[in-house]
Amino acid sequence: MSDTMEKLVSLCKRKGFIFQSSEIYGGLNRCWDYGPLGVELLRNIKESWWRAMTYREDVEGIDASILMHPRTWEASGHVEGFSDPLVEDRKTNERFRLDHLLEEAGVDVTGMGFEEMSAKILELGLKSPKGNELTNPRQFNLMFKTHVGPVEDSASVVYLRPETAQGIFVNFLNVQQAMRQKLPFGIAQIGKAFRNEITTKNFLFRTREFEQMEMQYFVMPGEDEKWFDYWREQRYRWFTEALGIPASRLSWHEHVGAELAHYAKAAFDIQFEFPFGTGEVEGIHNRGQFDLGRHEEYSGKQMKFFNEQTKEKVLPSVVETSIGASRSTMMVLANAFAEEEIKEGDLRTVMRFHPRIAPLKVAILPLVKRDGMPEVARRIEADLRPHLRVFYDEGGAIGRRYRRMDEVGTPFCLTVDSETLTDDTVTIRERDSMAQERVKIADLLGVINGRMDIWKHPES
Ligand code: ATP
Repeated sequence: MSDTMEKLVSLCKRKGFIFQSSEIYGGLNRCWDYGPLGVELLRNIKESWWRAMTYREDVEGIDASILMHPRTWEASGHVEGFSDPLVEDRKTNERFRLDHLLEEAGVDVTGMGFEEMSAKILELGLKSPKGNELTNPRQFNLMFKTHVGPVEDSASVVYLRPETAQGIFVNFLNVQQAMRQKLPFGIAQIGKAFRNEITTKNFLFRTREFEQMEMQYFVMPGEDEKWFDYWREQRYRWFTEALGIPASRLSWHEHVGAELAHYAKAAFDIQFEFPFGTGEVEGIHNRGQFDLGRHEEYSGKQMKFFNEQTKEKVLPSVVETSIGASRSTMMVLANAFAEEEIKEGDLRTVMRFHPRIAPLKVAILPLVKRDGMPEVARRIEADLRPHLRVFYDEGGAIGRRYRRMDEVGTPFCLTVDSETLTDDTVTIRERDSMAQERVKIADLLGVINGRMDIWKHPES
Protein backbone atom coordinates (compact mmCIF):
# COMPACT_ATOMS: atom_id res chain seq x y z
CA MET A 1 0.00 0.00 0.00
CA SER A 2 1.29 3.48 -0.79
CA ASP A 3 2.39 5.72 2.04
CA THR A 4 -0.55 8.09 1.46
CA MET A 5 -3.04 5.21 1.49
CA GLU A 6 -1.60 3.88 4.75
CA LYS A 7 -1.95 7.29 6.35
CA LEU A 8 -5.47 7.70 5.00
CA VAL A 9 -6.65 4.27 6.20
CA SER A 10 -5.18 4.94 9.62
CA LEU A 11 -6.78 8.41 9.85
CA CYS A 12 -10.13 6.93 8.79
CA LYS A 13 -10.03 4.44 11.62
CA ARG A 14 -8.69 6.81 14.28
CA LYS A 15 -11.18 9.55 13.50
CA GLY A 16 -14.27 7.39 13.03
CA PHE A 17 -14.69 7.43 9.25
CA ILE A 18 -14.18 3.76 8.35
CA PHE A 19 -13.70 0.65 10.49
CA GLN A 20 -12.92 -2.87 9.39
CA SER A 21 -16.04 -5.03 9.50
CA SER A 22 -16.21 -7.50 12.42
CA GLU A 23 -12.70 -6.47 13.39
CA ILE A 24 -12.77 -8.27 16.75
CA TYR A 25 -12.96 -11.55 14.81
CA GLY A 26 -10.11 -10.60 12.51
CA GLY A 27 -12.28 -8.81 9.97
CA LEU A 28 -14.02 -10.16 6.88
CA ASN A 29 -12.24 -10.01 3.58
CA ARG A 30 -12.25 -6.32 2.86
CA CYS A 31 -15.67 -5.49 4.20
CA TRP A 32 -15.85 -2.09 5.80
CA ASP A 33 -18.14 -0.28 8.25
CA TYR A 34 -18.80 3.44 8.11
CA GLY A 35 -18.21 5.12 11.48
CA PRO A 36 -19.93 8.29 12.75
CA LEU A 37 -18.08 10.69 10.45
CA GLY A 38 -17.91 8.24 7.54
CA VAL A 39 -21.65 7.68 7.47
CA GLU A 40 -22.26 11.42 7.52
CA LEU A 41 -19.88 11.89 4.59
CA LEU A 42 -21.46 9.02 2.66
CA ARG A 43 -24.96 10.36 3.30
CA ASN A 44 -23.94 13.85 2.20
CA ILE A 45 -22.53 12.47 -1.07
CA LYS A 46 -25.70 10.43 -1.68
CA GLU A 47 -27.90 13.39 -0.80
CA SER A 48 -25.97 15.63 -3.19
CA TRP A 49 -26.37 13.06 -5.99
CA TRP A 50 -30.07 12.57 -5.21
CA ARG A 51 -30.71 16.31 -5.38
CA ALA A 52 -28.73 16.75 -8.58
CA MET A 53 -30.44 13.81 -10.28
CA THR A 54 -34.02 13.80 -9.04
CA TYR A 55 -34.91 17.37 -8.09
CA ARG A 56 -35.94 17.96 -11.71
CA GLU A 57 -39.17 17.26 -13.52
CA ASP A 58 -37.82 14.63 -15.90
CA VAL A 59 -36.31 12.21 -13.36
CA GLU A 60 -38.19 10.09 -10.79
CA GLY A 61 -36.69 8.12 -7.89
CA ILE A 62 -37.34 4.54 -6.78
CA ASP A 63 -35.98 2.08 -4.23
CA ALA A 64 -36.24 -1.48 -5.57
CA SER A 65 -35.60 -4.65 -3.59
CA ILE A 66 -32.19 -6.33 -3.59
CA LEU A 67 -33.63 -9.78 -4.29
CA MET A 68 -35.36 -10.00 -7.66
CA HIS A 69 -36.95 -12.74 -9.75
CA PRO A 70 -34.03 -14.88 -11.02
CA ARG A 71 -35.22 -14.51 -14.64
CA THR A 72 -34.20 -10.85 -14.36
CA TRP A 73 -30.55 -11.89 -14.35
CA GLU A 74 -31.01 -14.22 -17.30
CA ALA A 75 -32.57 -11.39 -19.29
CA SER A 76 -29.86 -8.93 -18.28
CA GLY A 77 -27.11 -11.32 -19.39
CA HIS A 78 -25.60 -11.62 -15.89
CA VAL A 79 -26.19 -15.39 -15.45
CA GLU A 80 -24.39 -16.11 -18.68
CA GLY A 81 -21.86 -13.36 -18.95
CA PHE A 82 -21.20 -11.51 -15.68
CA SER A 83 -17.85 -13.03 -15.05
CA ASP A 84 -14.24 -12.10 -14.57
CA PRO A 85 -11.47 -14.05 -16.24
CA LEU A 86 -9.28 -15.62 -13.60
CA VAL A 87 -6.43 -18.00 -12.92
CA GLU A 88 -5.67 -19.84 -9.71
CA ASP A 89 -2.37 -20.31 -7.91
CA ARG A 90 -1.93 -24.11 -8.04
CA LYS A 91 -0.42 -24.23 -4.55
CA THR A 92 -2.37 -21.67 -2.53
CA ASN A 93 -5.61 -21.70 -4.57
CA GLU A 94 -5.63 -17.90 -4.50
CA ARG A 95 -7.41 -16.41 -7.49
CA PHE A 96 -6.22 -13.54 -9.65
CA ARG A 97 -7.78 -11.57 -12.46
CA LEU A 98 -6.02 -11.93 -15.79
CA ASP A 99 -6.14 -8.22 -16.49
CA HIS A 100 -4.63 -7.41 -13.09
CA LEU A 101 -1.77 -9.91 -13.50
CA LEU A 102 -1.05 -8.59 -16.97
CA GLU A 103 -1.15 -4.97 -15.85
CA GLU A 104 1.26 -5.78 -13.04
CA ALA A 105 3.55 -7.34 -15.66
CA GLY A 106 3.46 -4.05 -17.56
CA VAL A 107 1.03 -5.11 -20.32
CA ASP A 108 -1.54 -2.58 -21.56
CA VAL A 109 -4.78 -4.59 -21.55
CA THR A 110 -6.93 -1.86 -23.14
CA GLY A 111 -9.29 -3.45 -25.64
CA MET A 112 -8.14 -7.03 -24.92
CA GLY A 113 -10.73 -9.82 -24.66
CA PHE A 114 -10.59 -13.10 -22.71
CA GLU A 115 -8.90 -15.12 -25.48
CA GLU A 116 -6.23 -12.52 -26.08
CA MET A 117 -5.48 -12.11 -22.37
CA SER A 118 -5.30 -15.90 -21.86
CA ALA A 119 -2.87 -16.24 -24.76
CA LYS A 120 -0.72 -13.40 -23.39
CA ILE A 121 -0.52 -15.01 -19.92
CA LEU A 122 0.70 -18.26 -21.50
CA GLU A 123 3.07 -16.48 -23.88
CA LEU A 124 4.72 -14.58 -21.02
CA GLY A 125 4.76 -17.70 -18.81
CA LEU A 126 3.41 -15.63 -15.92
CA LYS A 127 3.50 -17.10 -12.41
CA SER A 128 1.36 -16.17 -9.41
CA PRO A 129 2.62 -13.28 -7.23
CA LYS A 130 3.92 -16.02 -4.86
CA GLY A 131 5.97 -17.54 -7.69
CA ASN A 132 3.78 -20.65 -8.18
CA GLU A 133 2.32 -22.19 -11.34
CA LEU A 134 -1.10 -20.98 -12.47
CA THR A 135 -4.12 -22.94 -13.66
CA ASN A 136 -5.58 -22.35 -17.12
CA PRO A 137 -7.64 -19.15 -17.36
CA ARG A 138 -11.41 -19.51 -16.88
CA GLN A 139 -14.48 -17.35 -16.38
CA PHE A 140 -15.84 -16.90 -12.84
CA ASN A 141 -19.39 -15.59 -12.26
CA LEU A 142 -19.43 -12.68 -9.85
CA MET A 143 -23.01 -12.96 -8.58
CA PHE A 144 -23.67 -14.08 -5.00
CA LYS A 145 -26.24 -16.86 -4.92
CA THR A 146 -28.60 -17.62 -2.08
CA HIS A 147 -31.97 -19.33 -1.57
CA VAL A 148 -35.41 -18.05 -0.68
CA GLY A 149 -37.61 -20.08 1.65
CA PRO A 150 -36.74 -23.17 3.66
CA VAL A 151 -35.74 -25.51 0.81
CA GLU A 152 -32.34 -25.15 -0.78
CA ASP A 153 -33.03 -26.48 -4.27
CA SER A 154 -32.49 -25.07 -7.73
CA ALA A 155 -36.02 -23.65 -7.85
CA SER A 156 -35.31 -21.45 -4.81
CA VAL A 157 -32.11 -19.84 -6.13
CA VAL A 158 -31.97 -16.06 -6.06
CA TYR A 159 -29.09 -13.65 -6.47
CA LEU A 160 -27.99 -10.62 -4.50
CA ARG A 161 -28.25 -7.95 -7.18
CA PRO A 162 -24.88 -7.11 -8.77
CA GLU A 163 -26.20 -3.70 -9.92
CA THR A 164 -29.20 -1.53 -9.18
CA ALA A 165 -30.02 -0.91 -12.86
CA GLN A 166 -32.29 -3.93 -13.36
CA GLY A 167 -34.67 -2.80 -10.60
CA ILE A 168 -35.17 0.30 -12.72
CA PHE A 169 -35.69 -1.47 -16.06
CA VAL A 170 -38.34 -3.83 -14.73
CA ASN A 171 -40.21 -0.86 -13.23
CA PHE A 172 -40.00 1.31 -16.33
CA LEU A 173 -43.70 1.19 -17.20
CA ASN A 174 -44.88 1.29 -13.57
CA VAL A 175 -43.05 4.57 -13.04
CA GLN A 176 -43.95 6.02 -16.43
CA GLN A 177 -47.66 5.37 -15.95
CA ALA A 178 -47.84 6.33 -12.25
CA MET A 179 -46.11 9.66 -12.85
CA ARG A 180 -47.58 10.25 -16.34
CA GLN A 181 -44.07 10.79 -17.73
CA LYS A 182 -43.27 11.20 -21.40
CA LEU A 183 -40.02 10.47 -23.20
CA PRO A 184 -37.39 11.54 -22.44
CA PHE A 185 -37.42 10.83 -18.72
CA GLY A 186 -35.23 9.06 -16.20
CA ILE A 187 -35.45 6.83 -13.14
CA ALA A 188 -32.84 7.07 -10.39
CA GLN A 189 -31.97 4.80 -7.52
CA ILE A 190 -29.40 4.50 -4.73
CA GLY A 191 -28.81 1.08 -3.19
CA LYS A 192 -26.56 -1.77 -2.25
CA ALA A 193 -25.06 -4.09 -4.85
CA PHE A 194 -22.95 -7.21 -4.37
CA ARG A 195 -20.19 -8.73 -6.47
CA ASN A 196 -18.01 -11.64 -5.52
CA GLU A 197 -14.93 -9.81 -6.72
CA ILE A 198 -11.83 -11.97 -7.07
CA THR A 199 -9.44 -9.28 -6.04
CA THR A 200 -10.57 -6.74 -3.53
CA LYS A 201 -8.08 -4.05 -2.85
CA ASN A 202 -7.46 -0.41 -2.30
CA PHE A 203 -9.73 0.14 0.69
CA LEU A 204 -13.23 1.19 -0.42
CA PHE A 205 -12.36 1.19 -4.12
CA ARG A 206 -13.27 -2.42 -4.83
CA THR A 207 -15.32 -4.29 -2.27
CA ARG A 208 -17.80 -7.18 -2.42
CA GLU A 209 -20.65 -5.19 -0.91
CA PHE A 210 -21.00 -1.61 -2.07
CA GLU A 211 -23.53 1.04 -2.87
CA GLN A 212 -24.40 2.34 -6.32
CA MET A 213 -26.16 5.47 -7.52
CA GLU A 214 -27.62 4.81 -10.94
CA MET A 215 -29.92 6.61 -13.31
CA GLN A 216 -31.44 5.26 -16.52
CA TYR A 217 -32.69 7.89 -18.93
CA PHE A 218 -35.26 6.63 -21.45
CA VAL A 219 -35.26 8.43 -24.79
CA MET A 220 -36.70 8.13 -28.29
CA PRO A 221 -34.48 5.86 -30.40
CA GLY A 222 -32.28 8.09 -32.50
CA GLU A 223 -32.01 10.71 -29.74
CA ASP A 224 -29.65 8.61 -27.61
CA GLU A 225 -26.43 10.21 -28.81
CA LYS A 226 -27.63 13.70 -27.96
CA TRP A 227 -28.63 12.64 -24.44
CA PHE A 228 -25.44 10.66 -23.99
CA ASP A 229 -23.43 13.88 -24.55
CA TYR A 230 -25.79 15.82 -22.28
CA TRP A 231 -25.39 13.39 -19.36
CA ARG A 232 -21.62 13.16 -19.79
CA GLU A 233 -21.43 16.91 -19.30
CA GLN A 234 -23.86 16.98 -16.37
CA ARG A 235 -22.09 14.22 -14.51
CA TYR A 236 -18.63 15.74 -14.96
CA ARG A 237 -19.91 19.02 -13.55
CA TRP A 238 -21.22 17.23 -10.46
CA PHE A 239 -17.72 15.95 -9.74
CA THR A 240 -16.14 19.38 -9.99
CA GLU A 241 -18.93 21.56 -8.58
CA ALA A 242 -20.72 19.42 -5.98
CA LEU A 243 -17.79 17.31 -4.79
CA GLY A 244 -15.07 19.90 -5.40
CA ILE A 245 -12.76 17.54 -7.31
CA PRO A 246 -10.17 19.57 -9.29
CA ALA A 247 -10.31 18.92 -13.05
CA SER A 248 -6.57 18.20 -12.93
CA ARG A 249 -7.32 14.98 -11.00
CA LEU A 250 -10.07 13.79 -13.37
CA SER A 251 -9.90 12.19 -16.80
CA TRP A 252 -12.14 10.48 -19.35
CA HIS A 253 -11.67 6.96 -20.60
CA GLU A 254 -13.54 5.75 -23.66
CA HIS A 255 -14.34 2.04 -23.93
CA VAL A 256 -13.31 0.55 -27.25
CA GLY A 257 -13.31 -2.90 -28.85
CA ALA A 258 -13.65 -5.86 -26.49
CA GLU A 259 -13.78 -3.52 -23.49
CA LEU A 260 -17.25 -2.36 -24.55
CA ALA A 261 -19.87 -4.37 -22.61
CA HIS A 262 -22.29 -6.59 -24.57
CA TYR A 263 -25.15 -4.12 -24.01
CA ALA A 264 -23.34 -0.89 -24.77
CA LYS A 265 -23.27 1.21 -27.94
CA ALA A 266 -20.80 3.62 -26.37
CA ALA A 267 -19.28 4.05 -22.92
CA PHE A 268 -17.12 6.59 -21.15
CA ASP A 269 -15.71 6.43 -17.63
CA ILE A 270 -14.92 9.38 -15.42
CA GLN A 271 -11.62 8.49 -13.76
CA PHE A 272 -9.85 9.91 -10.73
CA GLU A 273 -6.15 9.95 -9.85
CA PHE A 274 -6.15 7.79 -6.70
CA PRO A 275 -2.94 7.49 -4.65
CA PHE A 276 -2.64 3.95 -6.08
CA GLY A 277 -3.26 4.95 -9.71
CA THR A 278 -5.99 6.05 -12.09
CA GLY A 279 -9.36 4.38 -11.50
CA GLU A 280 -12.95 4.50 -12.76
CA VAL A 281 -15.47 6.19 -10.51
CA GLU A 282 -18.44 6.54 -12.85
CA GLY A 283 -19.51 4.92 -16.10
CA ILE A 284 -21.80 6.69 -18.58
CA HIS A 285 -23.24 4.22 -21.06
CA ASN A 286 -25.38 4.36 -24.16
CA ARG A 287 -27.25 1.05 -23.73
CA GLY A 288 -29.48 1.43 -26.79
CA GLN A 289 -32.64 -0.74 -26.68
CA PHE A 290 -30.87 -3.77 -25.26
CA ASP A 291 -32.34 -3.92 -21.75
CA LEU A 292 -36.01 -3.21 -22.37
CA GLY A 293 -35.87 -5.49 -25.43
CA ARG A 294 -34.46 -8.36 -23.39
CA HIS A 295 -37.03 -7.93 -20.60
CA GLU A 296 -39.82 -8.04 -23.21
CA GLU A 297 -38.37 -11.23 -24.57
CA TYR A 298 -37.81 -12.97 -21.20
CA SER A 299 -40.99 -11.82 -19.40
CA GLY A 300 -43.35 -11.98 -22.35
CA LYS A 301 -44.70 -8.57 -21.24
CA GLN A 302 -44.50 -5.57 -23.49
CA MET A 303 -42.19 -2.79 -22.28
CA LYS A 304 -43.06 -0.18 -24.89
CA PHE A 305 -44.01 3.41 -24.32
CA PHE A 306 -47.23 4.56 -25.98
CA ASN A 307 -46.67 7.84 -27.77
CA GLU A 308 -50.01 9.74 -27.48
CA GLN A 309 -49.12 12.11 -30.30
CA THR A 310 -48.22 9.60 -32.98
CA LYS A 311 -50.39 6.80 -31.49
CA GLU A 312 -47.40 4.53 -31.87
CA LYS A 313 -45.63 2.22 -29.46
CA VAL A 314 -41.88 2.72 -29.10
CA LEU A 315 -39.19 0.75 -27.34
CA PRO A 316 -37.03 3.49 -25.78
CA SER A 317 -33.24 3.67 -25.90
CA VAL A 318 -31.40 4.10 -22.62
CA VAL A 319 -28.57 6.33 -21.48
CA GLU A 320 -27.20 5.27 -18.11
CA THR A 321 -25.10 7.02 -15.50
CA SER A 322 -23.65 4.61 -12.95
CA ILE A 323 -21.46 5.56 -10.02
CA GLY A 324 -20.44 3.84 -6.80
CA ALA A 325 -21.36 5.72 -3.63
CA SER A 326 -18.64 3.84 -1.76
CA ARG A 327 -16.11 4.45 -4.53
CA SER A 328 -17.04 8.15 -4.60
CA THR A 329 -16.46 8.27 -0.85
CA MET A 330 -13.01 6.75 -1.46
CA MET A 331 -12.39 9.44 -4.08
CA VAL A 332 -13.59 12.25 -1.80
CA LEU A 333 -11.40 11.00 1.06
CA ALA A 334 -8.33 10.68 -1.18
CA ASN A 335 -9.00 14.07 -2.77
CA ALA A 336 -9.36 15.77 0.62
CA PHE A 337 -6.28 14.32 2.30
CA ALA A 338 -3.32 16.70 2.57
CA GLU A 339 -0.29 17.18 4.78
CA GLU A 340 1.13 20.68 5.04
CA GLU A 341 4.16 22.17 6.68
CA ILE A 342 2.84 25.38 8.20
CA LYS A 343 6.20 26.50 9.42
CA GLU A 344 9.40 24.60 9.91
CA GLY A 345 8.80 21.42 11.86
CA ASP A 346 5.08 22.13 12.22
CA LEU A 347 3.09 19.68 10.12
CA ARG A 348 -0.69 19.55 9.92
CA THR A 349 -3.00 16.98 8.38
CA VAL A 350 -6.05 18.51 6.80
CA MET A 351 -9.05 16.95 5.05
CA ARG A 352 -10.14 19.49 2.44
CA PHE A 353 -13.70 18.33 1.90
CA HIS A 354 -16.09 20.53 -0.02
CA PRO A 355 -17.86 22.24 2.94
CA ARG A 356 -21.26 21.10 1.62
CA ILE A 357 -20.29 17.44 2.00
CA ALA A 358 -17.98 17.72 5.03
CA PRO A 359 -19.30 15.55 7.90
CA LEU A 360 -19.09 18.42 10.40
CA LYS A 361 -19.64 21.97 9.20
CA VAL A 362 -18.84 24.07 12.24
CA ALA A 363 -16.94 23.63 15.50
CA ILE A 364 -17.88 25.88 18.42
CA LEU A 365 -14.99 26.47 20.78
CA PRO A 366 -15.02 28.60 23.95
CA LEU A 367 -11.46 29.86 24.40
CA VAL A 368 -11.49 28.96 28.10
CA LYS A 369 -13.89 27.01 30.31
CA ARG A 370 -14.83 29.99 32.48
CA ASP A 371 -15.95 33.66 32.50
CA GLY A 372 -19.29 32.75 30.92
CA MET A 373 -17.68 31.68 27.60
CA PRO A 374 -19.07 28.11 27.59
CA GLU A 375 -22.58 29.50 28.16
CA VAL A 376 -22.38 31.85 25.16
CA ALA A 377 -20.86 29.05 23.07
CA ARG A 378 -23.73 26.73 24.01
CA ARG A 379 -26.24 29.40 22.95
CA ILE A 380 -24.54 29.68 19.53
CA GLU A 381 -24.57 25.89 19.27
CA ALA A 382 -28.32 25.79 19.97
CA ASP A 383 -28.96 28.47 17.32
CA LEU A 384 -26.92 26.75 14.60
CA ARG A 385 -27.71 23.08 15.29
CA PRO A 386 -31.09 23.00 13.50
CA HIS A 387 -29.40 24.26 10.33
CA LEU A 388 -25.92 22.73 10.28
CA ARG A 389 -24.04 19.72 11.68
CA VAL A 390 -22.12 21.40 14.53
CA PHE A 391 -19.59 20.11 17.03
CA TYR A 392 -18.94 21.56 20.49
CA ASP A 393 -15.48 21.20 22.05
CA GLU A 394 -14.12 22.89 25.15
CA GLY A 395 -11.24 20.50 25.96
CA GLY A 396 -7.57 21.43 25.52
CA ALA A 397 -5.50 24.22 24.03
CA ILE A 398 -7.25 26.12 21.24
CA GLY A 399 -4.48 25.34 18.73
CA ARG A 400 -4.89 21.61 19.35
CA ARG A 401 -8.65 21.89 18.99
CA TYR A 402 -8.19 23.61 15.60
CA ARG A 403 -5.89 20.82 14.44
CA ARG A 404 -8.36 18.15 15.51
CA MET A 405 -10.99 19.85 13.36
CA ASP A 406 -8.57 20.15 10.41
CA GLU A 407 -7.98 16.41 10.57
CA VAL A 408 -11.67 15.62 10.16
CA GLY A 409 -12.19 18.38 7.60
CA THR A 410 -14.46 20.77 9.53
CA PRO A 411 -14.47 23.90 7.35
CA PHE A 412 -15.22 26.49 10.06
CA CYS A 413 -14.24 26.95 13.72
CA LEU A 414 -16.03 29.60 15.79
CA THR A 415 -14.14 30.78 18.86
CA VAL A 416 -15.83 32.53 21.74
CA ASP A 417 -13.34 34.78 23.58
CA SER A 418 -13.39 37.74 26.00
CA GLU A 419 -14.31 40.15 23.20
CA THR A 420 -17.42 38.11 22.49
CA LEU A 421 -18.72 39.00 25.94
CA THR A 422 -18.60 42.72 25.17
CA ASP A 423 -19.44 43.02 21.44
CA ASP A 424 -21.34 39.84 20.47
CA THR A 425 -18.76 38.81 17.86
CA VAL A 426 -16.79 35.56 17.49
CA THR A 427 -13.77 34.68 15.39
CA ILE A 428 -14.44 32.46 12.41
CA ARG A 429 -11.40 30.43 11.37
CA GLU A 430 -11.29 28.86 7.93
CA ARG A 431 -9.84 25.38 7.63
CA ASP A 432 -7.92 25.84 4.36
CA SER A 433 -6.37 29.30 4.77
CA MET A 434 -6.45 29.22 8.60
CA ALA A 435 -7.40 32.92 8.33
CA GLN A 436 -9.47 34.36 11.18
CA GLU A 437 -12.00 37.13 11.10
CA ARG A 438 -14.51 38.60 13.55
CA VAL A 439 -18.17 38.14 12.71
CA LYS A 440 -21.35 39.24 14.55
CA ILE A 441 -23.12 36.26 16.15
CA ALA A 442 -26.37 37.33 14.50
CA ASP A 443 -24.76 37.11 11.02
CA LEU A 444 -23.11 33.71 11.48
CA LEU A 445 -25.55 31.50 9.57
CA GLY A 446 -25.57 33.77 6.51
CA VAL A 447 -21.78 34.12 6.51
CA ILE A 448 -21.20 30.37 6.81
CA ASN A 449 -23.71 29.51 4.09
CA GLY A 450 -22.23 32.15 1.78
CA ARG A 451 -18.70 30.84 2.26
CA MET A 452 -19.78 27.24 1.67
CA ASP A 453 -21.24 28.16 -1.70
CA ILE A 454 -18.16 29.92 -3.05
CA TRP A 455 -15.66 27.33 -1.82
CA LYS A 456 -13.08 25.98 -4.28
CA HIS A 457 -10.46 23.28 -3.77
CA PRO A 458 -7.06 25.02 -3.51
CA GLU A 459 -5.91 23.13 -6.64
CA SER A 460 -8.95 24.09 -8.74
P1 ATP B 1 -14.60 -2.11 -12.52
O1 ATP B 1 -14.09 -2.18 -13.94
O2 ATP B 1 -13.82 -1.17 -11.65
O3 ATP B 1 -14.84 -3.45 -11.90
P2 ATP B 1 -17.18 -1.89 -13.63
O4 ATP B 1 -16.86 -1.34 -14.97
O5 ATP B 1 -17.47 -3.33 -13.46
O6 ATP B 1 -16.03 -1.47 -12.60
P3 ATP B 1 -19.83 -0.91 -13.46
O7 ATP B 1 -20.41 -2.24 -13.57
O8 ATP B 1 -19.93 0.02 -14.61
O9 ATP B 1 -18.31 -1.03 -13.00
O10 ATP B 1 -20.37 -0.24 -12.13
C1 ATP B 1 -20.60 1.13 -12.02
C2 ATP B 1 -19.90 1.75 -10.85
O11 ATP B 1 -20.12 0.99 -9.65
C3 ATP B 1 -18.38 1.80 -10.98
O12 ATP B 1 -17.99 2.92 -11.73
C4 ATP B 1 -17.94 1.89 -9.55
O13 ATP B 1 -18.01 3.23 -9.07
C5 ATP B 1 -18.97 1.08 -8.82
N1 ATP B 1 -18.45 -0.27 -8.53
C6 ATP B 1 -18.46 -1.35 -9.36
N2 ATP B 1 -17.90 -2.42 -8.77
C7 ATP B 1 -17.53 -2.01 -7.52
C8 ATP B 1 -16.91 -2.66 -6.41
N3 ATP B 1 -16.59 -3.93 -6.45
N4 ATP B 1 -16.69 -1.93 -5.29
C9 ATP B 1 -17.05 -0.63 -5.22
N5 ATP B 1 -17.64 0.03 -6.23
C10 ATP B 1 -17.88 -0.64 -7.36
